[in-house]
Amino acid sequence: MKVCDPMKKIIVIGAGAGGLAAAMILSARGYEVEVFERDGHIGGRARTLDLDGHRFDVGATFLTGDAPIKAVFAAAGEVLENHVTLQPIDPLYEFIFKDGNLKPTTDQTLMRKELERAFPRHVVDYFDFIDRQKAKFQALAPLSRTTFHTPLNYLRLSVLKTWWHKDSRQSVFKRLNRMFADETFAHIMSFQTKYLGMSPHEAPAYYTFLSYLEFANGLYRVKGGLGNLFEAMRKVIEIYGGKVHLKTPVKRLLIHDRHVHGIVLEDDSYRSADIVINSADFGHFIKQLVPPKHQRKYKTKIIDAQDRSLSAFVMYLGLDKTYNLEPHTLILADNMDEYYRVLMKEHQIPDHFTVYIHNPSAIDSSLTDEPNHSSLYILLSVPNTTHPIDWEKATPALREAVFKRIKERTHLHDLQKHIVVEKTLTPIDWERDFALEKGAVFGLSHTRNQTLYRRPHNRFNDIKNVYLVGSDTHPGSSIMQVFQSALLTTRLITKN
Ligand SMILES: Cc1cc2nc3c(=O)[nH]c(=O)nc-3n(C[C@H](O)[C@H](O)[C@H](O)COP(=O)(O)OP(=O)(O)OC[C@H]3O[C@@H](n4cnc5c(N)ncnc54)[C@H](O)[C@@H]3O)c2cc1C
Repeated sequence: MKVCDPMKKIIVIGAGAGGLAAAMILSARGYEVEVFERDGHIGGRARTLDLDGHRFDVGATFLTGDAPIKAVFAAAGEVLENHVTLQPIDPLYEFIFKDGNLKPTTDQTLMRKELERAFPRHVVDYFDFIDRQKAKFQALAPLSRTTFHTPLNYLRLSVLKTWWHKDSRQSVFKRLNRMFADETFAHIMSFQTKYLGMSPHEAPAYYTFLSYLEFANGLYRVKGGLGNLFEAMRKVIEIYGGKVHLKTPVKRLLIHDRHVHGIVLEDDSYRSADIVINSADFGHFIKQLVPPKHQRKYKTKIIDAQDRSLSAFVMYLGLDKTYNLEPHTLILADNMDEYYRVLMKEHQIPDHFTVYIHNPSAIDSSLTDEPNHSSLYILLSVPNTTHPIDWEKATPALREAVFKRIKERTHLHDLQKHIVVEKTLTPIDWERDFALEKGAVFGLSHTRNQTLYRRPHNRFNDIKNVYLVGSDTHPGSSIMQVFQSALLTTRLITKN
């Protein structure tokens, strides 16, 4: 699929979802592409982790819908289904709360029955909400398909039409609680704002469409783990002559006269390029890779003042047993308002927390070498390292508290007896091993000051011929948004 300007040399920093997607599209389009990755694996914070024959998605566990991922492969002239199998996750979750549970599904008939059982007063409200959010989401969609590297982009007709829907006077929770008087149900419909780095009490009502996206479009996972998707991308890159270098950290950009000319590697050798695409965390990029004398709008002190998302305490358990537990289970804190207050205002680990359990082995037996074994992933949202916690001290007690909570609320009473291998990641690990500024797993928050034109642009204005992809540029965090960023950024490059 050689379709454009030949032999421009492009260097991509980082082989996470964003870097690989951009590299795949551009190498298929005839550019000479080299990817430099500091880690020994591809996939970044979404890579596959192998613990003694038990495989885990290290970070991202599900994809919201399948459109951008198909579009990324199509942009490289490939068909996604020829490379990986997407498995729908349905029921989407099991929510377990103090006095009941709910298993939302995309099957409207089953969903009606499920709501009649668990929240009968909100059956009509729910379907009304889904209809309205569908219209709202469709109206807002042009925002994620437009780049915002100049304020003039706001003047496009498709963008102007979205203003009507950009209501931000109330918070997501307030708006949803007005629709759904039952607070537990309002929390189920609003917890997704955590993925944007905000509590539903802070996120503007503009984002009420997030739960619609999950509940209407469905959730998917990649059979065998997200690592299979990234391997497929690497294969396509290499077919077109591109190269992916592992364990090759980039030390800094090579800049002259506000133009990038290449990169300098750790061993002080350099590689020249016409264009450099950065996919590393934006804070890490500015602080480590752009020498201070070349920093303009974004300086270290600006990076330190930016709002970043929560971090995560994640336990990966290889088990010699399989449990009949939904792939996604969320045990909600008994008092969600208190939970958000302690987590996001006091920046502490709440005593009564929400636990997310990912049990992909329920639908995918390819994750373990041994039959009847399974790979269980448990995640707690915790403050990022802006708010220091002594994780060495906190981890053992938190681990025990997690097991206690799971025992109280699920049938996994003998879980600890069946652990054959275990690993835990704390915010310190996300910061150090995954090069994430402040260990913020979802990167820059989507506050009003950090979205659209105010988010770092797909074309980096400070240095010519530098572009950005990934969580910290437009449109934002999550695998699907990151793929969308790769589509936008590569479109800018191929147009020039
Ligand atoms: C615990 C957790 C749970 C999540 N859950 C979900 C989910 O369920 N669904 C979802 O859609 N999203 C989820 N996310 C978010 C999603 O994983 C990210 O938005 C996405 O993976 C970000 O991809 P990226 O390419 O922007 O960044 P990264 O994956 O961070 O990739 C950047 C790459 O750059 C490399 N790099 C950094 N510095 C250098 C350097 N100097 N030289 C060379 N290479 C460098 C890094 O090693 C890394 O490989 C989750 C994230 C985490 C951590």
